Amino acid sequence: MLTTSLLAITSLLSFMMLLIVGSLLRSRVAGVREWCLANVAVLISLPLFALRGVVPDFLSIPIANIALAGGLLSYYAGCARFLGQPTHWQVLGASLGVLAAAILFWFYGTDNPQVRVIIVSAYHTTMLLAIAQLIARHIPPRRHPYNYWLTASLATVFAIGHAVRGVVFGLTPAPGPELYAPTAFNAAMLTIGTIVMPAMTMGAVMMIHDAMLATAEEAANRDYLTGALSRKHFDLLARQEMARALARSLPLSIVVIDLDHFKQINDTHGHAGGDTVLREFVKLVRDVLREGDIFGRLGGEEFAVLLPGTDTPGAIRIAERLRTQASRHLVAGPFGVCHYTLSGGVATWHAHESLEALCMRADRALYAAKISGRNLVLSDVLSSDETASEAG
Ligand code: GH3
Ligand code: MG
Ligand code: MG
Repeated sequence: MLTTSLLAITSLLSFMMLLIVGSLLRSRVAGVREWCLANVAVLISLPLFALRGVVPDFLSIPIANIALAGGLLSYYAGCARFLGQPTHWQVLGASLGVLAAAILFWFYGTDNPQVRVIIVSAYHTTMLLAIAQLIARHIPPRRHPYNYWLTASLATVFAIGHAVRGVVFGLTPAPGPELYAPTAFNAAMLTIGTIVMPAMTMGAVMMIHDAMLATAEEAANRDYLTGALSRKHFDLLARQEMARALARSLPLSIVVIDLDHFKQINDTHGHAGGDTVLREFVKLVRDVLREGDIFGRLGGEEFAVLLPGTDTPGAIRIAERLRTQASRHLVAGPFGVCHYTLSGGVATWHAHESLEALCMRADRALYAAKISGRNLVLSDVLSSDETASEAG
């Protein structure tokens, strides 16, 4: 009775978790399909366990056990896909084959429930530890690690539960403890064994939500066409960098970049050609910049690079590198081959200066570069006077 109610409750829980994880199928997050499949397998398995004595033993023992193990295996594959790791389907399939053969042998060959419990416990312990290790090792960077650690910890706790079950059955003289006797030990073990998938699916749902949030944030913070930071996010990060530069007394420079005669590029190569130039230019900039530099699209064909820890000569050097590389950059596509140049304005931040004031000075330098003939980088020539007058 206790066993049946426990199994009925956990089946219901599994069904609810299947609905939840199933509702996330359209998130297109990798691994959701495998996690759904894992719950389907458990939903086949638990009722078969509960119907022991009612349905043929073949269904309630080997098939129920193989389905439960298959569910765990599918859960592992879901984690691997979610984390961008190889699923090792062949190894997983082979391990399930070996398990199935062992269960069938100790069911039809020699009916030995004790050995069966030990083998099944060992399999679940290994799979759960593999899941814990997979998640703990591959927590994606810049995410909330809490969701991942929680799922990995749950897997570890369940692995320990299964190991305890296996050891207890292994150490007890044959034929071993009565599997379905309503003892506290059996109830605890059964609870642990059947709650695994609903609990692990809860962890999976938390990880899916984390991934969806990260994708949404990424989409909001990036310019759709080029993948450079959106202006809004660039401004936010720039203000954070200003606070950091002030706290650490480090220099901070900005380069405002405008592609030259872009209207002409559009006129010659079409709007699609212009778009390709913008995208290729962004790739070029990414290759030149260091980790920690901040690169955004301010709008149209205008970009800005914020360079933490960089003074005016350093910023001019980087801007010059960008200018030279852009001037040698040939962008090819269905529209033909396009050559482009850029002009840049450099300004270095004065403590307590606003972002708007800093950008205005860089814009002034950019304007000077434009009227001096383009394909040129200039720094804000007035900045030293302004600093001098501020100091004076
Ligand atoms: P200058 O050297 O003085 O900067 O000349 P310009 O032609 O680059 O400057 P202007 O500001 O007159 O023109 C910018 C052009 O950039 C006009 C606009 O159609 C084009 N543009 C802005 N955004 C996009 C975009 O997303 N894709 C494409 N293909 N063109 C764009
Ligand atoms: Mg332009
Ligand atoms: Mg412009």
